Amino acid sequence: MTAQDHRSLSAAEARARLLAEVAPIAGHEFLALRSALGRILAADIIAPHDVPPHDNSAMDGYAVSCASLAGAGDSKLTVVGSSFAGHAFAGSLGPGQAVRIMTGGVLPAGADAVVVQEVTRVEADGVVVPAGQRSGQNIRRAGEDLARGAVALAAGRRIGPAELGLLASLGLVEVAVKRRLRVAFFSTGDELTALGTALTPGQIYDSNRYTLHGLLARLGAEVIDLGVVADRPEALEATLREAARMADAIITTGGVSVGEADFVREILARVGEVKFWKLDVKPGRPMAFGKVGEAWLFGLPGNPVATLVSYTQFALDALLRLAGCDPLPERPLLTVPAANAIKKQAGRREYLRGAVAAVDGRWQVRTTASQGSGMLRSMTEANCFVVLPEDCAGVQAGDSVEVQLFEGLF
Ligand code: AMP
Ligand code: MG
Repeated sequence: MTAQDHRSLSAAEARARLLAEVAPIAGHEFLALRSALGRILAADIIAPHDVPPHDNSAMDGYAVSCASLAGAGDSKLTVVGSSFAGHAFAGSLGPGQAVRIMTGGVLPAGADAVVVQEVTRVEADGVVVPAGQRSGQNIRRAGEDLARGAVALAAGRRIGPAELGLLASLGLVEVAVKRRLRVAFFSTGDELTALGTALTPGQIYDSNRYTLHGLLARLGAEVIDLGVVADRPEALEATLREAARMADAIITTGGVSVGEADFVREILARVGEVKFWKLDVKPGRPMAFGKVGEAWLFGLPGNPVATLVSYTQFALDALLRLAGCDPLPERPLLTVPAANAIKKQAGRREYLRGAVAAVDGRWQVRTTASQGSGMLRSMTEANCFVVLPEDCAGVQAGDSVEVQLFEGLF
């Protein structure tokens, strides 16, 4: 560790350090399209053909050639056939002719516009089209969504429902995706009891490992749950070394502050390298970041809310970058009025748990339940973090505050 590493970092500095350090893992696999949901593309997807593959109608109506319409007044055209989606019109349009066409129907040869059926009038011997039709109207051009040969999706893109659909529109049966990120995690603390065992005095159930399981499963990582490790330096050291052999990243919770039983940082410095371990944020002031062997280590604080804050604000994007995600998702802050006053000390960034809701048609945010960093209920009742910047020294009801919605964070 250098002298600089003893310094407490701002949230922005810590994020920049994390993202500058980690680089994407190598390795990919081929997956059937449906199985690729949530995974990250390993190579650019080049469109093998135009999407849509042919000019087609955007509306229900009549395909016409504007050259056969009168400049002013109505034109009567003979309907010579139909083009429905999946059933193209075989011939080509002659002068004074129209083809009945439905949305998605292939534009017949000789047609250059679609007239919506609402403005037409059907008569016994044809269809009457009013003046004012323009060449090209209501037509979806071949390749207007994706042109053959273009990059349809770039490597690094995470595959969501829209990407799945787009890949399917190209006719792709399987895609190359990055291999799953392997993340080992464990809890530390002599007070932690496994589920299924009765609590003895002074013990609590280990909740962080379940929170982390949820976070990492949502991330799409291959999770390696190493259980609870006692507050004994030898046990921690052995588990850290074991985790480093198996995983790309290690996440620990607890034992990173400066208490008598907080050994994670000290052992990390012995078996690996500490990049930083103190942040000017609340909750989540102690958070160790470093490396053991080839594995990155994120030593999150033990308080359950602090674990969630440190993970979402710092570890998450580093893990996404490690997994090959590029670009990283934008995480916009929205500005809304606060429904209640919030106490705050200037000098550090604070993340409160908030619920954004519309009151009398206007969005506002209130902080939820008790905000102690051990109180998970404040998280379960919330749908956002209220993010108060370093220079903020408190909020009055009605003041504008920035919120980060949970959507997309976990
Ligand atoms: P530590 O960071 O180890 O000092 O722990 C801070 C607080 O978080 C203490 O009250 C711990 O009991 C609690 N804590 C630590 N790890 C867990 C866990 N895995 N589940 C629930 N609470 C925890
Ligand atoms: Mg502890």
